[in-house]
Amino acid sequence: MENCIFCKIIKVEIPAEKIYEDEDTFAFLDISPQNKGHTLVVPKKHFKNIEDTPEDELCKVFKAVKKIAPKIKEAIKADAYNIGINNGKEAGQEIEHLHIHIIPRFADDKLKHWISGEYYEGEEEGIGEKIRKLI
Ligand code: 5GP
Ligand code: ZN
Repeated sequence: MENCIFCKIIKVEIPAEKIYEDEDTFAFLDISPQNKGHTLVVPKKHFKNIEDTPEDELCKVFKAVKKIAPKIKEAIKADAYNIGINNGKEAGQEIEHLHIHIIPRFADDKLKHWISGEYYEGEEEGIGEKIRKLI
């Protein structure tokens, strides 16, 4: 898609540190990494988000994630990694081309995570039923 930064990276119209490429997916280092080795994995076709992405394309992207993530961990001697998708503007999605973040983690890296032990205490009644009805 025109004017999409990630489409331009895939077409090598703008530079990026490529980590992996196959017929359907592309992975490159994040320009503003949260941690050493922060990588983005994208489908080569332009899809905005999870809702827009066909199941087979999602499978291909996650297959690439599974291949790449352990190698990133090994290369930089990370202890673990987060895998995340910001799906929608309010969830933090800035680039509207589906991408999966692989963020390496170290025991003492002080990166923020959602906080264990703190939880949402709002209205809960009927939520499960509402969701089940739509699936
Ligand atoms: P989002 O907030 O949409 O989930 O994540 C977008 C990510 O893309 C951010 O982590 C940001 O640093 C990264 N990013 C934005 N523009 C570029 C770019 O031109 N090159 C690379 N390599 N990463 C980018
Ligand atoms: Zn795109």
